[in-house]
Formats: sequence, structure tokens, C-alpha cells
Amino acid sequence: MKVLVTRLLPEHTQKRLQDEPLLDLVQWKEDRAIPRETLLSLVKGVDAIYCLLTDKIDEQVLDCAGPQLKVVSTMSVGYDHIDVKALKARNIQVGYTPDCLTEATADLTVLLALSVARRMKEGIRAAENGEWSVWRPTWLCGTQFSGKTLGVVGLGRIGEAVAKRLKAFGITRILYYGRSRKPQAEAELGAEFASFDDLLEKSDYITVCCALTVETQDLFDYQAFSKMKPSVVFVNTARGGIVKQDDLVRALEDGKIRAVGLDVTVPEPLPVDHKLYQFPNCIILPHIASATSETREQMATMALDNIVAVANGQPIPFGL
Ligand code: NAP
Repeated sequence: MKVLVTRLLPEHTQKRLQDEPLLDLVQWKEDRAIPRETLLSLVKGVDAIYCLLTDKIDEQVLDCAGPQLKVVSTMSVGYDHIDVKALKARNIQVGYTPDCLTEATADLTVLLALSVARRMKEGIRAAENGEWSVWRPTWLCGTQFSGKTLGVVGLGRIGEAVAKRLKAFGITRILYYGRSRKPQAEAELGAEFASFDDLLEKSDYITVCCALTVETQDLFDYQAFSKMKPSVVFVNTARGGIVKQDDLVRALEDGKIRAVGLDVTVPEPLPVDHKLYQFPNCIILPHIASATSETREQMATMALDNIVAVANGQPIPFGL
């Protein structure tokens, strides 16, 4: 089976890929996203595409590939870069990597929440820049979790893992917003289903953990930020497109929110002269929420398992 792989994979999975007897491999090996024109050219005649979230898989790619294309497997749990409807209409299977990155992503979400709540960026800069003089009672005071309300937008795998972790830090009330109620999470965590506005108005911490879809695109606009408590800590580790970034800048300028932690932006990478970098109360990480060696290897393996299953004429183990 001819497969296009759009990047070099983590060590063990790369070796397995190369040793896989059923696969005739075409691979983009440079340490940058495959250029669109190269993707469109290399995809011709392949039976399988192993892609990353940096590769847009749409009708044009499917047309270029040809009717023999059987599976698209992405090394990510998010699949907003894939036109799933178009693939399904052509009976092309879609594979992704749920569960294995839940823990790593939840850890980093908590790390961001803690970091911005405790003014980590300002603290590190102060220490490094020689602004650290005598111990002062109110210098660099942040806020803590005990007795606070957490609002989770999208109480899925990652959202629930974040809520569990922050509960251990002293959060006493968990609100969540999504398309459906989660009775198990309600029972286990005492989470309460809330309207979007209620969650915005009542939460001390808001974590964005939902998928990027047409419904969630630009969900957080200036109006949404204005409904939040001015003391709120806002963290987005899901997808940049869920936040209207110019509105976030305005909300920070207007003091509508206390602090922000982002692992995802639009575009990615976010240009170094972007205004968001200038706020002392905004920490930006370069989309590394799932970046532990263990998790990345597991993601790569699952995405390959999907391709190998199709090569063996079996159903994909991790499919949509
Ligand atoms: P998941 O279990 O499918 O959870 C997604 C959640 O999004 C679900 O609770 C779902 O609610 C909610 N949702 C979907 N449409 C919504 C809408 N219109 N309004 C409100 N909520 C909506 O997925 P997951 O494994 O937790 O991953 C969540 C997202 O995190 C992924 O889609 C990905 O984009 C992102 N992610 C980012 C990184 C990173 O490196 N920064 C790493 C991993 C994942 P319902 O259940 O009610 O439909």
C-alpha cells in the first residue's frame, strides 16, 4: 500500500514505519510543514495519508490523490484540519489519536493556569533583570485555587482531566459548558452543567478544552470576555480559532480579565511582534501541550496502527 507520510516521526515509530513490509513509503522528511504544492504533488496515487495538524486535508487534496485513497490518519486528536465530511462522502476512513495525549495536555493546561495565576512570567523576568530587591508583602501577588470556581468549556477527555487536577488544587465548584450533559462527570466531580453566559459570569478560572468547529470558531469574543469576572484567569489549550484574538487583545488592554495562558494561537507560529507577547499577564507557549516524549511516540504509533490496519484489510482501531 502506497502511503504518504508528511513528516519524520518520533524515533521508534519512524523505525517501525521504515520496517513495515506492507507499506510503500513516500515521506516528507524536512523539519517543517510540507509545502502545499509538494503535498498536492506527492499525494498523487497514494492509498493512505499519514498527516499532522499542520496539513490541511480538503477536497483539493482528495482530488489530487485519486479514487484509490482509503485512509487519512492524523497524528493528533484534533481533526479540524481535515474535511471529515468530504472524506466520509468518498468512503475514506479517518483515523486520529484520542486518549493517549489527555494526561500530557491536561498537565500543561494546569501548568498554564498556575503560571498565569501566580504571575510566573513577571517573576522570572524580575529575578533575571535584577528587579528582585527586598522581600515585599504585596509584590507579585497572584491568586490561588482554593475555594474558587472552575469553568470548563468542553468537558471531554481533556476537560475532565483538567477538572480532576484542579480539584486537587482546591477548586470547590466546577461548571461546564458543551453540547451534552455528562452524568458520569457530574457524579464523579460534582460538575454542574451551565449555560455559556452562566459559566462566563461565575467562573474564577476558565479553561477552553473543546474541539474547534464551525460552532466554536470565535466563541470567545469581546462580548464574552466582558461577561467574565475582571479577576478571571483564562486558559486555552484547545485551538486558537476558538478565541477571537483581536478581541482578546482588547479585553486585556481594557482590563476585562486578570490573566491569560495560551498554548494555541492564530496563526501558528504567532509572529514575535504580536501584541499578545507584550502583556505581562499573558503567557504564550508554542503549541506544546502534548509534547512529552512518551505521548508523542504513542500518538505516532496510534496513527501508524490505523494505516497498517487498512493495509491488512482490517478496520482502523482509532477511527472517527
Ligand atoms: P473530546 O473528548 O472529543 O472533547 C471535546 C469536547 O468539545 C467535548 O466535550 C464536546 O462536548 C466539546 N464540544 C464540541 N463541540 C462543542 C460546541 N459546539 N460547544 C461546546 N463544546 C463543544 O476531545 P479531547 O480529547 O478532550 O480534545 C479536545 C480538543 O483539544 C481537541 O479537539 C484538540 O483540538 C485540542 N487539543 C489540543 C492539544 C494541544 O497540543 N494544545 C492537544 C490535544 C488536544 P460534547 O461532548 O457535549 O459534544
